[in-house]
Amino acid sequence: MPATILNGNKIAAEIRAEAAAEVRAMTASGAPPGLAVVLVGNNEASEIYVRGKVKSCEEVGIYSEKHTPSEKLATEELLGLIEDLNRREEIDGILVQLPLPRQVDSKRVLLAVDPAKDVDGFHPMNVGFLSTQRPGLVPCTPAGIMEMLQRSEIKIAGQEAVVVGRSDIVGKPMAMLLLNANATVTVCHSKTRDLPGVCSRGDILVAAIGRAGMITRDFVRPGATVIDVGMNRVTDAAEFAKLFGGNASREKTFREKGSVLVGDVHPEVAEVAGAITPVPGGVGPLTIAMLMANTVKAAKMRRGNRVAELSRV
Ligand code: NDP
Repeated sequence: MPATILNGNKIAAEIRAEAAAEVRAMTASGAPPGLAVVLVGNNEASEIYVRGKVKSCEEVGIYSEKHTPSEKLATEELLGLIEDLNRREEIDGILVQLPLPRQVDSKRVLLAVDPAKDVDGFHPMNVGFLSTQRPGLVPCTPAGIMEMLQRSEIKIAGQEAVVVGRSDIVGKPMAMLLLNANATVTVCHSKTRDLPGVCSRGDILVAAIGRAGMITRDFVRPGATVIDVGMNRVTDAAEFAKLFGGNASREKTFREKGSVLVGDVHPEVAEVAGAITPVPGGVGPLTIAMLMANTVKAAKMRRGNRVAELSRV
């Protein structure tokens, strides 16, 4: 039986609608939540992501502003901007789009963001809150995956969960969220021995690697839920053919655009998995939806609803 497709666009729309309702209530009783996005330089991919984030704010009713300092700025200058944003009452969330130019000390910059406004959840204080199960702001991509699993009624407690990738942005917080939800969690990385063997233990398998189609059917336990975080652009015709040879609609896209967006999971996995996220249309849309949810959460916590939030976590 082919896998159930977990529709990220549908779940993201639900999350955005819920955020929009909260924004309307907050706007009626004062002011909308505010998000400041900082985009340094002219990285094309970052520009696309930031455009998507600002557009989503508009749809949900969140006030947003974009800061675009020059590629050449020094760490101190960026710290000055962050301090200004930290001080401003109407700004509830601050997002510094990564990667930053090489001369900028990214760790210092992320540390400078007020943890209460850290809607990306990257500040060590929020990392600590997550690992000690205290209320805080959780990185958007893994938080979105948890929403997807829960709203799709996929069992987590007591299940074997395998996460491939240990980045601070996806792999580690993903593992922590699954652990907090009582899964038995294994985290894999580039030094893991017998990766297919370890992965095929997973009732839930999360691939956050950055390698097109690396997870093939021999990595997957039949019936497992497979979450594909990877976003890889494939431009090589031979690599494309290995992944999507015979798939008429993908072949058409490849012919027209010269590239396709591919996850870390090989398309053949859909034949063995119980449920699977597509790329595109799986995890990607959830990431931006959770940024909206996190901005609303930060605004509520800053406006004194911390007690209400505490009872939800
Ligand atoms: P990183 O490059 O920071 O981390 C990749 C991880 O994969 C590392 O832990 C690395 O191990 C591991 N890895 C690399 N090669 C192998 C291998 N051959 N075998 C086992 N493990 C391996 O990436 P990110 O976590 O930032 O992103 C991962 C992917 O998710 C990318 O494709 C990215 O574009 C995508 N992404 C998608 C988002 C979305 O919204 N859909 C959001 C964020 C990311 P080691 O630590 O040992 O080097």
